Order: sequence, then structure tokens, then C-alpha cells
Amino acid sequence: MRILFATAEVAPVAKTGGLGDVCGSLPKALAKLGHEVVVFMPYYRQAREWFEDHGIVPEVAVPPTQVMWANWSAEATILRTTLPESDVPLYLVVNDHFFDRQQIYALREDGFDDFLLRYVFFCRAIVNACDILGIAPDILHAHDWHTALLPVYLDSGLRGNDSFRTTRSVYTIHNLNYQGIAAAAAFAITGLHSRYWAPDAVEHWGQVNPMKGGILFADQVTTVSPNYAREIQAPVLGAGLDGILRSLSFKLTGVLNGIDVEQWDPATDPLVPSNFTAGRLNGKNLTKRKLLKEAGLRHRAKTPLMAVVSRLVDQKGFQLLTPVVDRLLRLGAQLVVLGSGDAQFEDAFKAVESANPESCRVWIGFDDALAHHIYGGADLLLMPSIYEPCGLNQMYALRYGTLPLVRMTGGLVDTVTPFDGTNADRATGFGFRSTLPQDLFAAGWLAVLNYRETKVWKTLQHNGMSIDFSWDRSAREYDAIYRRAMIS
Ligand code: ADP
Repeated sequence: MRILFATAEVAPVAKTGGLGDVCGSLPKALAKLGHEVVVFMPYYRQAREWFEDHGIVPEVAVPPTQVMWANWSAEATILRTTLPESDVPLYLVVNDHFFDRQQIYALREDGFDDFLLRYVFFCRAIVNACDILGIAPDILHAHDWHTALLPVYLDSGLRGNDSFRTTRSVYTIHNLNYQGIAAAAAFAITGLHSRYWAPDAVEHWGQVNPMKGGILFADQVTTVSPNYAREIQAPVLGAGLDGILRSLSFKLTGVLNGIDVEQWDPATDPLVPSNFTAGRLNGKNLTKRKLLKEAGLRHRAKTPLMAVVSRLVDQKGFQLLTPVVDRLLRLGAQLVVLGSGDAQFEDAFKAVESANPESCRVWIGFDDALAHHIYGGADLLLMPSIYEPCGLNQMYALRYGTLPLVRMTGGLVDTVTPFDGTNADRATGFGFRSTLPQDLFAAGWLAVLNYRETKVWKTLQHNGMSIDFSWDRSAREYDAIYRRAMIS
């Protein structure tokens, strides 16, 4: 099958979260299955810097051409290179006015938020490039709100173009809470016929909602874990689109994200001071000692080291942790935190550190090397998320013998089996359901107690380290979804 990925992020070239990870890895796994995959992304300043840093000069595939659409016109140049460490073609859509900014999702220099226009431009530039380059995909795979209008364009006349005559579409929701909502007046930018300004199209409560369009018009819709696929069909986590998702559940599938098992391998990871495997965990103990040293904390026997590696935002649920963290430390645990985000959480963790200098260390910032060291050296990873479409951290932790302590939501339900005292044969971590801090505390207490039960702990570590989180498994599921889209 010929598959076109249209995405706002590709790791490691330019990424802010899970969307980038998926679009950097899944195309390669699909190519391994024998598909012809091409990927389109915007040529952000961050992308240009990444290629410069790596000595890569993308070639010009399409010289500057004018993309004329709706009530606007803008110039696009298309560059071509390959996805890092693969021969999957990666096309870069260049327009410095839209994409050369300090951050990937920064506003225009004058402070105006042109988010809808810049991604409608991106979508239409992809269409132009396909026509010029003769790319005729069987499957157009769009991701999140940025490229959600592509399935709508397929419905609204794009199939008249030679390149898209038989194209089917798949739309993946990475986070339902970012829908690309714009004011009604912005509808003109989309260039859609007025019949799409309707509740059964992209209009939603008087506003433009690209994500709604993607969900309605794609032949198949996926999201990043089976449990999140269920949760978004109910009002609590449905972000106003639960009714639509419920009515279209026949074409909605949850496919768990994979992880890059080569980059994240405790047996070979150069960022882990002492490598280890499930059978030989000595290296993990040494890694923990080094981590404690780096944190300025003393190694204490029978004392579990808890860790947080995360964006510090409401979604991640640290409002449940901060009220009970002092008590967890008093139970006999230590804590390291690596993260950045809202000042409210940064300050709260800093206060915990000041009050408990012997048992807590907080690093504010983003540090990939330190993150690897923490997954390698910690005993427990805390993820009390309020919602979590898939979550990658818990998978990295499991692979590194670090037991996740999670709130049972979204992809955390699909990836962590909480220990209940009787299921050591298959449990991989600890869990709680409510949004009450005391329930997090109870799960933490259970974890601290069981840390002293060396045999149980080792079994749980072993269970987690044996799970296959590779992309190959997910790619086979996407393959089946593409086939379903082809016959719909
Ligand atoms: P989300 O995409 O919602 O932030 P995920 O769990 O899907 O959550 O992915 C988070 C990714 O970002 C993981 O790879 C995690 O290790 C990494 N990460 C988050 N915060 C930091 C940080 N402060 N330093 C280094 N890596 C981080």
C-alpha cells in the first residue's frame, strides 16, 4: 500500500510530545512490513536546526510555487530527505512566514494567532506537492487537529484530482483536548463549501472545529490506546465530541503506541551508567547509586526511590501527589523529580525539596539524558494522570525495571497491571482509580511495603521487563485498519 503521513511533528526532527514520537517511528515500522510510506511535515526552524546539526542538506523536490486557496495565497517550497536512520521519504513544507518561529507552536511575531491558516496552508501544500510529484496515496493518514481537514477535503472534491482518485483516509487522535477550534469567521480560510458549515461537518457550537471534521469524514478513526478509545466516548473525557465518537464507534479503534525498543534498551543504553537486563539486575543497583549521588541524596537500604519525569501540567495529576508527598517520604521513600511546566507545580515540588533536603531532589527543565538515567535508576515512577491518551513514560519505566505507580486512566490501564497482593504472576506496578490524594497515598504505601519483599518486587520487575512494546506489533494493527479503510 502507498501511505501518506501528514503530521505537524516528527521525532527527533521537531517534537513536543507523543505525536512526534508516533510519526517518527510508525512510518519506519510500516515500511518494514513492505508498505511504501511518505511523510510530510512543516519545515520549522527547529527542523532546519536539527538537519544543520546533523550535517544533512535536504534537496529541493518542488521549487517555490504558489498555493492558492480560498481567500488566501502563500508560497511553498518542498524539500526532500529521509526519516532519520531509514530510507522513508520525508517531505518538508517550507514557508518561513508560517514555520520559522522560536517554538513550533508559537504565535506570529506580532502576537496574532494564525494557527488555523498555517495548518490549512500545510494541508493544501501537501495536496499541491502530491499533484506535482505524482504521489498518489492509497491511504492518507492524518494526525491530530493540524491535518484533520485533509479527510474533509477528500470528501469535498479532492477525489477529483488524479493523485487522490482512490485515496482512503485514516485519522488518528493523539489528544482529544486539542481540537484546533477557531472563531466562525475563520471558516473562510478552510475554503470549504458552505454545506460544511453544519453540525454534521466542521461547525461545532458556532465555531470551526477541524478535529470534528477529521472524525466525521475519515474512513477509519484511531486513537492511541484501546482504553482511551472507550473513555472518549463518554462525557467525562469526551471533550464535547463524545456523542459523535459514540455514534461513529463502528469506525473507531484504539491502537496502543509502541516505543523505540532500540533507543530504550537498558542492556545497551549509553545514557544509563551501568547497563542491565531482567536476568542481571546488578547494573540497575549501580545505576541507582549513581543517580542518588547526582541528586545529592544518600543511599539507604530498603528505601525505594520514587521518580517523576513529566511535563508539570494539570493533565499529569500532580495536584494529587503534592498533598501526600511528605507522608510518602516519611514512610521511608526518596523522590527525584525532573520536569517543567506550570509555575504552580514547579513551586510545589521545589517546596517539597526544601522541606525534605535529605530525601527529595527536584530538577526543573527538560533533559533527555537525565530522563534515561532516572528510568534506569529509580524503583518507582509516579504517574497520577487525570487523563492519559497513551503515555510513554510508563512503558520506558517498565522496560527499565522501574515499577509504575499510576492512576488507572487511558493507556495506563492498557499497559500497567496493578499489584493487588494476589497477582504477582502478572502484576507490573501499582494503581489507584479515584482522583483522591489519599488513594494515591494508599497505593504508594503498598508499593513501599512491597519494596521490602525482594522476591515479589523482582517478580514484578521481571513481568514488566518481558512485555513487548515494540512498534512492530502496533504497525500490524494499523495495517489491518488501512485494509478496513480501503474497503469502506
Ligand atoms: P506527553 O506527550 O503527554 O508529554 P508522554 O508520556 O506520551 O506524555 O511522553 C512524554 C515524553 O517526554 C517521554 O519521552 C518523557 O520521557 C519525556 N519527558 C517529559 N518531560 C521530560 C523532561 N523534563 N526531561 C526529559 N524528558 C521528558
